[in-house]
Amino acid sequence: MINHRGPEFAALMEDVTQGLQWALRTGNDVLLFPASGTGGLEAAVVNTLSPGEKALFCTMGSFGNRWAAIGEAYGADVVRLEVPQGEPIDPEDVERILAAHPAITTVFVTHNETSTGVSNDLPAIAAVVKSRGKLLCVDSVSGAGCLPLETDALGIDVCVTGSQKGWMAPPGVAMIAVSAAAFERAQQATLPRFYFDFTKEKKYQDKRQTFTTPPVSVLYAIQEGLAIMREEGLEQVWQRHALVGRMVRDGIEAIGLKLLAAEGHRSDTVTAVHSPAQSPDELKDLLSHLRVRYGLVLAGGQDELQGRIFRIGHLGMIDETDVYQILCVLEQGLSDRGFRSRVGLAAPAAQAAARQGTPSAEPAPVA
Ligand SMILES: *Cc1c(COP(=O)(O)O)cnc(C)c1O
Repeated sequence: MINHRGPEFAALMEDVTQGLQWALRTGNDVLLFPASGTGGLEAAVVNTLSPGEKALFCTMGSFGNRWAAIGEAYGADVVRLEVPQGEPIDPEDVERILAAHPAITTVFVTHNETSTGVSNDLPAIAAVVKSRGKLLCVDSVSGAGCLPLETDALGIDVCVTGSQKGWMAPPGVAMIAVSAAAFERAQQATLPRFYFDFTKEKKYQDKRQTFTTPPVSVLYAIQEGLAIMREEGLEQVWQRHALVGRMVRDGIEAIGLKLLAAEGHRSDTVTAVHSPAQSPDELKDLLSHLRVRYGLVLAGGQDELQGRIFRIGHLGMIDETDVYQILCVLEQGLSDRGFRSRVGLAAPAAQAAARQGTPSAEPAPVA
């Protein structure tokens, strides 16, 4: 490892923070904390709120619930807007709650709910929050770097992401874009904090250091991930995720499986699928078969969705070829376990989805 107070580290940090500003479309400081994404969520709470302060937490699944639980753990006056799993947040509900509770100072919302495969209409929600002059904190841990995200144009004050999701790096760094208004708020907010202190961290990062020892090796990986993204182009990265998302969903439906997320709000980074199995054990057996026999690792459901869904991650380093592999292997596994007798339905549907929106009849060939 290099000395994290030396010139090589300063250069690494400079490159990584500039790359993140580019990818998050922001001129704000991007603070780097040694932590998983949840550390970033906690940082957002403790730097923006004071004990008993009223804040709105919009939740549509496990990660939204986790953020609200952090607010409660620190003694904020938490107002929850909760929607059924698979549904997005309705901006009109946000408007209604903000009108009914003028004391709310801050709104917390998940961009992309990884537990349900739902993406929110962030521009519409941000417009409502900003028109009322509230501070806006966004969990884009599994959205940023993959889904269109305009941090500054939407007025997002605190935007949280994590190294192990779309950035193609190992876990270990929470990255947080913090607006001038959020830094100002942090000066007044009185929730206890020590490790996750925006003001203290900024003092170090202005000198291209971090307050505590950073995971230097993970920062090198983030730097490389950003270099890969820069080569491709940010909008091209977004388009690739849109393409891959469409292919996965159409392939899954062609197999006859049902998607959890409401139509029009389906995530391009993760797809949640209703279990075809009769019991949680049978689903577990299917997932284990796919992993052991074919090396395809799919996630189960979290919390109440455990045993009821499985999830396909398709973010970061993923392309069309991966999707064909995932779908064909999944079909084969379903057939092996007697859920389906026919195979070969998913690939043509995915191919048709890939052709949608491409100007030429053929999708671009893989290099
Ligand atoms: C992964 C993730 C997090 C953070 O999880 P960690 O395990 O703490 O990194 C937070 N929110 C969302 C939406 C996520 O997908």
